[in-house]
Amino acid sequence: TKSLCSGMGIDGNNILAESLKRQGVEYVFGIVGIPVIETSMAFQAAGLKYIGMRNEQAACYAAQAIGYLTGKPGVCLAVSGPGLLHCIGGMANAQVNCWPLLVIAGSCPEDHEGIGGFQEWPQVESSRQYCKYAARPPSPRLIPLHVERAVRAASAGRPGAAYLDMPATLLTAEVDEDQAQLDYYAADPITLGHPAPSLVSQAADALATAQRPLVIVGKGAASARAEDAVRKLVDATRVPFLPTPMGKGVVPDTSPYCVSSARTQALLKADVILLLGARLNWMLHFGQTPRFAKDVKIIQVDISPEELHNSVKSEVAVHSDIRPFAEALTAELAKRKFSLQPASHPWWKILQEKQTANAEFVKAQSSDTSVPLNYYAVFKAVQANIPSDAIIVSEGANTMDIGRGMLLNNLPRHRLDAGTFGTMGVGPGFAIAAAMWCRDHAPGKRVVCVEGDSAFGFSGMEIETMFRYKLPVIVVIVNNNGIYGGFDKETYNDIQSAGDVTLCTPPTALSNEVRYEKMMEIFGETGHLCRTVDDIQAALKKALAVTDRPSIINILINPQSNRKPQAFNWLTESKL
Ligand code: ADP
Ligand code: MG
Repeated sequence: TKSLCSGMGIDGNNILAESLKRQGVEYVFGIVGIPVIETSMAFQAAGLKYIGMRNEQAACYAAQAIGYLTGKPGVCLAVSGPGLLHCIGGMANAQVNCWPLLVIAGSCPEDHEGIGGFQEWPQVESSRQYCKYAARPPSPRLIPLHVERAVRAASAGRPGAAYLDMPATLLTAEVDEDQAQLDYYAADPITLGHPAPSLVSQAADALATAQRPLVIVGKGAASARAEDAVRKLVDATRVPFLPTPMGKGVVPDTSPYCVSSARTQALLKADVILLLGARLNWMLHFGQTPRFAKDVKIIQVDISPEELHNSVKSEVAVHSDIRPFAEALTAELAKRKFSLQPASHPWWKILQEKQTANAEFVKAQSSDTSVPLNYYAVFKAVQANIPSDAIIVSEGANTMDIGRGMLLNNLPRHRLDAGTFGTMGVGPGFAIAAAMWCRDHAPGKRVVCVEGDSAFGFSGMEIETMFRYKLPVIVVIVNNNGIYGGFDKETYNDIQSAGDVTLCTPPTALSNEVRYEKMMEIFGETGHLCRTVDDIQAALKKALAVTDRPSIINILINPQSNRKPQAFNWLTESKL
């Protein structure tokens, strides 16, 4: 086939590659096979960075994480049929998380359709409900138009997923280069949506007259790159704030105004809540009783007007990008000379008392370094030995929940976790994307991927990808032999030998003391097995010294270790 260089004909593969490049796409994560091998090569020839992964799901997670980190969708490239279907979970995750993603899959030749073509599947239909935009370009000439639309759909407004279907016949079809529309436009960045001034002033009035105001900083504020504006707002007003799990770091966790350690109280007692880029879904207990005060007033700011008033009716509902809103509100509150005094304000007193009490619990747990270790002792040791500017990837049940409180973020978009969809298996893909981002945009910055043992199992083979691309991800596995929790060796052996193994083995159990760190040995390296706090410290030190390959730190903990007792059993609260 003639290539771009021939100056005469150009095929679908090369039109696709050039179009992506011209739309500002930088990264492609994928797995190749028929019919997209030439596609991947055309991508590289066009200067797109290609990272070959081991499972399409992980590739899809990586592509959406790079989308969140850069603001431009990452591409996930997959083969037809099963390849595309393995991406569906990833597309749904991107869509639910509001992260930009563009999935591109090859599909069977159009003249094999309907007669049982190889890996034939209705791919556009299958993708549509997971996407903001799903299409098959009808001709090579129209590929640039569809790429432009897909990239724009993925990143504009509320970000999400897009899908482009590329039949083998389209990828190889040739047209004259001057017919290919390679110079199809790239849209100018869309001007930020500004808030209506009257709504800013209503929001300022509501906050300034509140007894117990609270700011909730969501990952929409991180997507919006609104960190400077939100930091100024919090610092100037000294209103207590709570980050959502991935809103962490927009304002530093170490800010004196962060009340994460009094989260339950803050949500329960606040009378006016400024909600910056977070949905009132399960993660925020729907904004309803018993977790929120019955008559709490919500000032809701979102780029997606359809989101306004979801779950509870907002007192002030603002359709705006977070950054211009936060800037305007700060100015409006300055006019009113509004600023709380944490040393004397009664609301601050309530929160500080709770923070002190919770800090005592954590201190007692985390200083109990008896072996096998508990979660709190593990996270204290991890937090003390990783760089404060590291990107932290985290998934698992207790591992992620307890890690939320104990592993701190002081920079925005530095926390990637199971997210709104609660997806397990995202960790290694997210970590690969984050490490690529560090290499290209923040050299020297480290990625620490803290995984539960069960969570790690979903995508563990991506360690090979980390080796191949020389990515120094530090994978920390908090290993409790199971899902939620497992068993000690003796109990596990007793249970397994009590009868038919499929009837006796609890579904939550995983094998005892699995030596995940030995995966390093298949690459000729050595991993770290840890049982004590000293082991953890030594392992992290060694891992931080390695800069051209991943490390695995396998921490065996007490399988009975658990989370601090919670005041509310959130998932089982009925809303009927
Ligand atoms: P969290 O997981 O932190 O609770 P969610 O994913 O529930 O956050 O909510 C993020 C919200 O932020 C979404 O409703 C989305 O529409 C909104 N959002 C995304 N980008 C922006 C932006 N630039 N400005 C304002 N809101 C945004
Ligand atoms: Mg576990």
